[in-house]
Amino acid sequence: FGDIPEGIAIGAVIMLNAAIGFWMEFQARQSMATLRSMDKITAKVVRNGEEKDRDAEEIVPGDVVLLESGALVPADLRLIEVSELQINESPLTGESVPVEKKTESVPKNAQTGDRKNMAYKGTSVTRGKARGIVIATGMDTEIGNISQLVSSADEDEIPLNRKLSKLSKNLIWLVLILAFGLGVIGYIAEKELYRIIQTSIAWAIAAIPEGLPIVASIALARGMLRLSNHNVIVKRLASVETLGETNTIFTDKTGTLTQNRLTVESLSTGIGQHGRAQWKGEEVTLKEVDRDSQNFKRLFDISVLANDAVYDPKHEENSEGDPLEIGLLKFARAFDPERINQLHQLEFVGEDPFDSESKMMGTVYTDGKKFIISAKGAAESILDICTHKLEKEKVTRLTDGEKEKIAAQSDAMSENGLRTLAFAYRDDAEKPAGIEDHAFLDELVYVGLIGFVDPPGPGIKEAIETFHTAGIEVVMVTGDHPGTALNIARQVSLVAPDEDRVIHGRDLKEDQFKNEEIAATRVFSRVDPSQKLRLIDGFQDQNKIVGMTGDGVNDAPALKKADIGIAMGKRGTQAAREVADMVLRNDAFPSILEAVKEGRIIFSNIRKFIIYQLSYHFSEVLVIAAVMLLLFELALEPLQLLYLNILLDVFPALALGIGRGRAAVLKEPPKDPKVNIITHKNWLAIIVYGIVIAASVSGVYFYGYYRMGLTPDIANNVAFFTLAFAQLFNVLNMRDPDENMFVNQVTRNKWVWGSLALCLGALLAAYWIPLLSGVLSLSPMGFDVWKLVIIGALVPAIVIQGIKQFVKS
Ligand code: ATP
Repeated sequence: FGDIPEGIAIGAVIMLNAAIGFWMEFQARQSMATLRSMDKITAKVVRNGEEKDRDAEEIVPGDVVLLESGALVPADLRLIEVSELQINESPLTGESVPVEKKTESVPKNAQTGDRKNMAYKGTSVTRGKARGIVIATGMDTEIGNISQLVSSADEDEIPLNRKLSKLSKNLIWLVLILAFGLGVIGYIAEKELYRIIQTSIAWAIAAIPEGLPIVASIALARGMLRLSNHNVIVKRLASVETLGETNTIFTDKTGTLTQNRLTVESLSTGIGQHGRAQWKGEEVTLKEVDRDSQNFKRLFDISVLANDAVYDPKHEENSEGDPLEIGLLKFARAFDPERINQLHQLEFVGEDPFDSESKMMGTVYTDGKKFIISAKGAAESILDICTHKLEKEKVTRLTDGEKEKIAAQSDAMSENGLRTLAFAYRDDAEKPAGIEDHAFLDELVYVGLIGFVDPPGPGIKEAIETFHTAGIEVVMVTGDHPGTALNIARQVSLVAPDEDRVIHGRDLKEDQFKNEEIAATRVFSRVDPSQKLRLIDGFQDQNKIVGMTGDGVNDAPALKKADIGIAMGKRGTQAAREVADMVLRNDAFPSILEAVKEGRIIFSNIRKFIIYQLSYHFSEVLVIAAVMLLLFELALEPLQLLYLNILLDVFPALALGIGRGRAAVLKEPPKDPKVNIITHKNWLAIIVYGIVIAASVSGVYFYGYYRMGLTPDIANNVAFFTLAFAQLFNVLNMRDPDENMFVNQVTRNKWVWGSLALCLGALLAAYWIPLLSGVLSLSPMGFDVWKLVIIGALVPAIVIQGIKQFVKS
């Protein structure tokens, strides 16, 4: 329409708006990228003969990479050395049974799954060690080829953003309908085309909350950053949203609820015999155990031989391996370091490593004359393969009655909270068969039991109690004995002291339970990793939103299946960390509470600024419509609206978005996943706030125009300032209804005050600085007019606060 300066000004404001939006979103994404890199995958690489942990991204073809149990294969490798290597190739082949690997060449046309001398990127080592040469990295790898086919573009797309863009689209339709209606009315009433188009544009600006998605991303990103200060790395933005809905946490026992420092406390060196170990610092004395008996000597030997740990007595923290095995070595050392050295001289022949399905492990050593098989594991597993017993210095057959007696003894120890293992051995003159296939553990001689204490970790009980007040159930899923599991569960208040319901993994296999029964149980014992999937399914079926902690390679599928997979940063394998949504860097269970708290706060913040922004935009649309209908005048010009939107749409909303929330968030139940972010009540609030503000703004417009005889230009200025100030007050309406009117999370939020000061400054600048006031068509106003503005802005604040006090919801 030939209005060049206004055109330029609008262009400039739009650019400025876009620049602010871009800069903010860029910052948010940048900080998310930094966070993700905090949990980088590393690999052991040999370069110039030197072994070093390197960032997996730095690996190049030709590098020599070392693999060990739990590691994620960082690139495609040709294996050159393997020792007992087994790899889970399910990401590539879908086959979840681990594949045994070798170094020999394979036929030229072998399929990916048959190339036994290769380890592929993205697969994970379930057992053993290996060395391989990198032949392909990144997109050139087998998995890279597959993932090229699957677009990862909307990785960051979160449900919230989808809902928000749907909302924006609906608003665009609303504007189109309004503009069309106005066009028709204008045409019938023979009004100017210029006004009609100008008003339609003003409506479009007024209706669409362009700041919404930006503020949402920033609120989420800030939440992620705050969580990283609590040692929680959130890997997917969407998880922050899900955290607010989580109502069930699956946790394992050892190391998560307990300290993972196992100490030998109880020994049985024969059937029905019971002794205790009493510790005083590094020293231990045995009560009711005959140290010179064959049984004790054998128990000692098996403890050292069926053991993969390395114990460093001077610096215990440097010890490596399973804490249970470290505990055994510590115990053995306290008695006879000389004997340990002798045993370590024996020649290693083979091993059947521990796995959570067989629940036992065994080794074969030789002294040149005989072969010594040593085994330890869960009592039921070991008793299954024992045919004899060592009792009163003699080896005799083990009867079924005796097996039952031993099992009862082991149960009793477990029920006292001890992690209990059974020990057995066999001496062979010849090298036993089945070493390669890990099938040498049978016909063993039972020796005794050892019970370990592993006390609950610090702060665990309090954390579980807080989870309960927060409406979140904690469910223990462990591979340990039902007795031990229940005892610990009671100690940490996971269940009531008189609770005795435990589901055994064996019964889960037989599918004896309905999903409601499963979802009502809090302790699951002797569960193997594959059954965890079944459990998560059962809970999800009962509308539970499940968070699950895990650390092993085998936990990966369940971590993926859970709504929030939570991996342990220190204890966790790379494979678990890779698929998890969240990583606890300090392995501390109570950190999950922080994450839940933050998730809930973010959620309620997002709800607040959406209510704020939408009620603001709604009031703008209404004011324009009212003045248009009555006077065919434009209450607010496009440029004025743009100016207000840059200020009011972004800064106060942002301040609400990063608020610290109310202290009581963990006293409330989780959000029902079926309830939308904006509930019916919230919509009602948006409509009421919008109408009250619009009524006051158009009220003062009409009062000024009709009663005070103001020109439409000055009346427009009145509407501009009244709306702006009313909106600034509207921020304070965003407190929760049950909070104090003056002291609440909004008034305590210093960002809110900062943003209000900023907006106020910018509004005064628009009035005082000639260039700005010229472009925004703002003229000087007298004291009377200002009084009108102040009253018009205060009235909605008082009315809305009054309604809030009255309705209280
Ligand atoms: P938790 O939930 O307590 O962490 P888990 O699910 O990790 O337990 P596993 O480590 O799979 O349980 O152990 C299951 C059972 O296997 C134990 O109860 C124990 O009897 C046996 N076991 C554990 N570690 C070893 C080991 N190093 N050698 C032999 N047997 C073991």
